Amino acid sequence: MAEVKIRNLKDLPPMTVSMGYMLINKTGVWRSMRPVIDKEKCVSCMICWKYCPDACIIIEDNKPVINMDYCKGCGICAEECPRKAIKLIEEGK
Ligand code: SF4
Ligand code: SF4
Repeated sequence: MAEVKIRNLKDLPPMTVSMGYMLINKTGVWRSMRPVIDKEKCVSCMICWKYCPDACIIIEDNKPVINMDYCKGCGICAEECPRKAIKLIEEGK
């Protein structure tokens, strides 16, 4: 995800304010578990992208890539992946 510089949140339209705060606060520091994608199992259905509550999954070369600066490790992507291509591992392992 490209870094966005926000100078004044009051300048943003109301619907973008929560996204603005999310970009400023690198919520990845909260994470105790880290999702890892098995690209061999992944069929690029993008269900993980659709369900990620923090919009931290981006698509590169038709495959999902997780931006760890913002991933909180909630595990929703792993739960929803129909191919069980995402596993959560302990942070630091
Ligand atoms: S939900 Fe699973 S199979 Fe679908 S794109 Fe994400 S990792 Fe790949
Ligand atoms: S673990 Fe949660 S926050 Fe991280 S990519 Fe998956 S759904 Fe998004």
